[in-house]
Amino acid sequence: MDCWKTTAALFTTFCLIFSGCKPPAFDGEKAYAETEALVQIRPRDAGTGGARRAAVHLEGRLKALGFKTVIDTFSEETSTGKMFFNNVLGRLPGKTDRLIVLCSHFDTKSGIAEDFQGANDSGSSSGVLLELVRVLSEHTSLETGFLIAFFDGEECRVKYGPRDGLHGSRRLAKQIAEAGGAAAVEAVILLDMVGDRNLNISVPRNSSRVLVKELFSAAHELGVRPQFGLYGHEILDDHVPFLMLGMPAIDVIDFEYGSVPGLNDYWHTTNDTLDKLSIESMQTVGDVVLRMVENLQ
Ligand SMILES: [Zn+2]
Repeated sequence: MDCWKTTAALFTTFCLIFSGCKPPAFDGEKAYAETEALVQIRPRDAGTGGARRAAVHLEGRLKALGFKTVIDTFSEETSTGKMFFNNVLGRLPGKTDRLIVLCSHFDTKSGIAEDFQGANDSGSSSGVLLELVRVLSEHTSLETGFLIAFFDGEECRVKYGPRDGLHGSRRLAKQIAEAGGAAAVEAVILLDMVGDRNLNISVPRNSSRVLVKELFSAAHELGVRPQFGLYGHEILDDHVPFLMLGMPAIDVIDFEYGSVPGLNDYWHTTNDTLDKLSIESMQTVGDVVLRMVENLQ
């Protein structure tokens, strides 16, 4: 009898431990709260005090989640003179050398307004990324390592070109390639504008086919495939410098952000505010990207 009791107790303990070992889940409310906190710092145009404060804030959040972090400060000659930028990087080592880069930009478009929120562009993707970071830090069954990157200087000041826009991503892609690490990069997953209440992810054509397939499979598995589609054109975004240096990359972006379908009137305007976002959209994107990352193990 005693033996039975002991066995039953052991079984219960095993079940409790086992249920406690369930992979941690993405929480859309936490992603929204992270977005809200970042958006309090505004505007976040590259080269301004706001951008610097945002970088320090993001590094603090990564540190609090147990990541090894660095703020990579660098200067570049731009179309409007020499400017300083701050990439915020975090590392989560894996069991293998394979690496997944998860990234978002955190700067806002310059010259919109003194109080420009940039809630969706670039708040939402940074909030979702921070929540993904929390989940990954609690995950016990991941083989790949993760490099988390919050890019500065994504937005161009005048017109995209070698000296205007994509400063942070160009810098990191070059650093990885020059260190001989490009071949170990399994995927670069860029998040951009992922919080719109009316979520329609529109992956640009210049994304790696193998990763598009992975994203759509993950969306299918979670029953949200209709919200994930292909965009009819290419988009110049932070995933491009990685593609150009031979790393597989995908841009998870909803490039329709407006008051009616087909109109982008919230994008790069004072209408890009927190009330246009939803927890549900962030939950959907977070769940799908997490599933995609788990499937890539
Ligand atoms: Zn933008």
